[in-house]
Amino acid sequence: MNVDALTIHELQNLLSKGEVSSVETTEAVYKRIEQCEEKVGSYITLCREQALEQAKAADKRIQDGNDGALCGVPVSIKDVMCTKGIRTTAGSRILEPFVPPYDATVVEKLKTAGAVIIGKAGMDEFAMGSSNENCAYGIPRNPWNTDHICGGSSGGSAAGVAADECIASLGSDTGGSIRQPASFCGVVGLKPTYGRVSRFGLIAYASSLDQIGPLTKDVHDCALMMNVIAGYDRKDSTSVNRETPDYLNALSKGLKGMTVGIPEEYFGEGLDPEVDKAVKNGIAALREAGALTVPVSLPHTDYGVAAYYIIAPAEASSNLARFDGVRYGLRDMDAASLVEMYSQSRSQGFGPEVKRRIIIGTYALSSGYYDAYYKKASQVRTLIVDDFKKAFEHCDILASPVTPTTAWRIGEKADDPLSMYLSDVLTIPTNLAGLPGISVPCGFSSAGLPIGLQMQAAHFNEEKLLQAAWNLEQELNIKSVKNDNLADSEWNETSKSRKRRIRLQ
Ligand code: GLN
Repeated sequence: MNVDALTIHELQNLLSKGEVSSVETTEAVYKRIEQCEEKVGSYITLCREQALEQAKAADKRIQDGNDGALCGVPVSIKDVMCTKGIRTTAGSRILEPFVPPYDATVVEKLKTAGAVIIGKAGMDEFAMGSSNENCAYGIPRNPWNTDHICGGSSGGSAAGVAADECIASLGSDTGGSIRQPASFCGVVGLKPTYGRVSRFGLIAYASSLDQIGPLTKDVHDCALMMNVIAGYDRKDSTSVNRETPDYLNALSKGLKGMTVGIPEEYFGEGLDPEVDKAVKNGIAALREAGALTVPVSLPHTDYGVAAYYIIAPAEASSNLARFDGVRYGLRDMDAASLVEMYSQSRSQGFGPEVKRRIIIGTYALSSGYYDAYYKKASQVRTLIVDDFKKAFEHCDILASPVTPTTAWRIGEKADDPLSMYLSDVLTIPTNLAGLPGISVPCGFSSAGLPIGLQMQAAHFNEEKLLQAAWNLEQELNIKSVKNDNLADSEWNETSKSRKRRIRLQ
């Protein structure tokens, strides 16, 4: 049996019965990483020694009957969350030597729950990107077809989960960065409501949009991870002091009485017919599970990308001002003056996309342009918030595609930032409105690339998303045929037994 191919709940079952130890599981995950990392490249940093220590401690906790919710489970963390004593680069050269002196709140929570931290997952630099091609440490690839992108910016997290290089992962989502790579890599990804999960220790990209969430092999695992990471944190003033439910309770409820809105604007021009078909097949499955579907309209959807690509760079230009060569990471030691040191450290440390965003953001905020760009974008944001409010008067959740296409080839959009930005059209509105959104696998293209179905809900309605997602997963019985070329065609028994079937219409 290959334990690395298990879900969290499958693994927990074996751990609690003593059939496998956390140390054995952790070793198995590192063996898997050795086998496929050359092809997938999902990690920036591995921390084997610390992980084995954590695994030993977890085994002791299990023996003592003192285990936590994730005791002994190997996870990866997107390299944008601070990990005490483990290098945290945010995918950037400028943070190459940065070792945080503290843990992000979510990391602390995972550790308290007994999780084993395997390493730091690859990502687009400062979470800016949709393909992971903007990473200073190499491009993680899609495990289903390594000529294709794994999505971004939490691409290393999604690719790692899909390739069994970890059991689950944490990502962050500012404009789609959990849901889009989850969709491209055939895993489950949840972006919680803004304020549901603490952002303390998350290196900020756009603070009014950023949110941390899980990437997992199935919906059950997603609920388990949410149980650990959700909740108020006084160290994050935007986290909301509100009771956290047990997300597992939502799962086994049927969908009778749930109304699913289908936003017509999400099925418009540019939608790949294969994506359209798989998503509609998923929606039919929701109906079979008891849900009612109604058409709804989100008329300002198309303006989301334009508003986001003002607001996010504006916030980024301010957030990234702290990387000046003085306080963190890289410093040019040859500069002749202070100003030259700032300028040289930043020009050497940041990659081209980050520089582009800093320039766009600074321009949009500069005097004389603020009203024309930032203020206008904020007004559009309000229109988008209102669209959702009206839609949720008629339905509990919304179902749609996550992205208009499946994962494209590496390099295909690398020189065309605008077409890259436009690919975020269906995920950005969720962040502008601060809503929760989930991506659940719902099929494959004829080329064998995964397709995800996105669901969105009103603020703090993650339970409804998990309930619908769990039912969808059961109905579709999705076949997770792993790419068996990853580890020298080692096609293991566990993966085989987890083969699930997509029921096509
Ligand atoms: N692709 C979007 C961007 O580049 C979203 C990234 C994210 O969610 N972090 O800004």
